[in-house]
Amino acid sequence: MSSPPVAAERPLLEMKRVSKSFPGVQALDGVDFSVQPGEVHALVGENGAGKSTLVKILTGVYPKDRGEILLNGRPVDIRSPLDAQRLGLRVIHQEFTLINHLSVAENIFLDTFATGMVGRVPRRQIEERAREVLTTLGLDVDPRTPVAGLTVAEQQIVEIARAVSKEAVLIIMDEPTAALTEAEVERLFGIIGALKARGVAVIYISHKLDEVMAIADRITVLRDGRLVGVRRAAEVSRSELVRMMVGRPVEQMFARRHRPSDEALFEVSHVTVPGRVYDASFFVRRGEVVGITGLMGAGQSWLVRAIFGAVPTSAGDIRVGGRRRAIRSPADAVRAGIGLLTENRKEEGLVLSQAVAANVTLASLGRFGRLGLLDHGEERRVAAGFVRQLDIRTPALSQEVAYLSGGNQQKVVLAKWLATEPDVVVMAEPTRGIDVGAKAEIYRLIDGLARQGKAIVLVSSELPELRSRA
Ligand code: ADP
Ligand code: MG
Repeated sequence: MSSPPVAAERPLLEMKRVSKSFPGVQALDGVDFSVQPGEVHALVGENGAGKSTLVKILTGVYPKDRGEILLNGRPVDIRSPLDAQRLGLRVIHQEFTLINHLSVAENIFLDTFATGMVGRVPRRQIEERAREVLTTLGLDVDPRTPVAGLTVAEQQIVEIARAVSKEAVLIIMDEPTAALTEAEVERLFGIIGALKARGVAVIYISHKLDEVMAIADRITVLRDGRLVGVRRAAEVSRSELVRMMVGRPVEQMFARRHRPSDEALFEVSHVTVPGRVYDASFFVRRGEVVGITGLMGAGQSWLVRAIFGAVPTSAGDIRVGGRRRAIRSPADAVRAGIGLLTENRKEEGLVLSQAVAANVTLASLGRFGRLGLLDHGEERRVAAGFVRQLDIRTPALSQEVAYLSGGNQQKVVLAKWLATEPDVVVMAEPTRGIDVGAKAEIYRLIDGLARQGKAIVLVSSELPELRSRA
């Protein structure tokens, strides 16, 4: 980005040797972090690196165990989100906090309402001030529009406008582009430029390294709760960033695979789902990874559901190890030796409120029952084996899955299916929404499964992923 701040200038924010632990996890371990006035400072790291915790300490959500926070060189004591707001630190949340039936102007001055000032400020004046703020951000929206009528990107800008109207000195954006189109990202970057020009600093958290490198002045990398380093965006390469985040050379991400055998282990012939999939056929050899791709809505997710017995088919047959299997339900699929890593792990793959161990054994319960009673010792032994084998980062087998990172949740789903000892593993978008390090691990696991002689169907809309794996 243009004009990086002068290094000699006094930092707007300094966080010094900040530490924070949760039961079983050192989330932050003596982390230093600083932001210059008007700087866009990106915070990157794999899931679980400590980014959110650092920001939550800064914004008074969590107390720190140790360390110090200085604003404009003066120590500050931030005990609540309100303290942080009063100091001009504002967070743009991933889930917006706008009120749908109120207008843009009313939302921008929402906090002002809460303190009862609005009764005394004429609506016209509020709308006028809202218009001013929106104009400085380059947003052409009528302040009288109800928020419900705005796109996600516009709502996000209203959130930013609200922060600006509250005299924010530092705005924190956590994955701000997750739901934006390319054009909307461009517009957001324009707004970030406008914030910089006003001297407002931005902490930008994102997994998208290309974006980070385009928008940030400096980048701080965290790993396992520790500071790995700070780099100027103009002077760091993408691969160096990945190496810093992951802690090992990137080449290992693309570790080579081996040759499949000639035996067709999984055969899908002429499968038809009325109105969705027409006459789909393919086969996968033992030890082979076959990729399936297509634009969103091309039918691949219906094909996956059909293979797994989750939707009725009108034609076709499925063979595992040469044997024809009638698959009319997911239970049939599991019995036939097919495991499915779902696209939507939160809704379909996991019971978030249950422990890691219970989730791992969920699909293979039959194996752990003894006279109708669950054999918890066996359950824990099997779960512990997978936690080790897949390197699932969890403080305990009894940890609720809801508290694990996305990448680790995905590994729990994988463990759940591996516990059923499948011959065929179908993975639908296995790396969607997980960060680059966890991706590398999932790829490594896919290779490992192929090497064990499983047949793998990899459904992905990411072409580079398919090219490197299938
Ligand atoms: P990031 O935002 O970089 O993905 P987080 O700051 O969310 O990382 O998490 C850092 C570590 O702290 C992770 O191991 C996470 O599981 C743990 N953690 C975060 N919040 C809590 C919490 N409220 N309770 C227990 N552990 C937590
Ligand atoms: Mg986070």
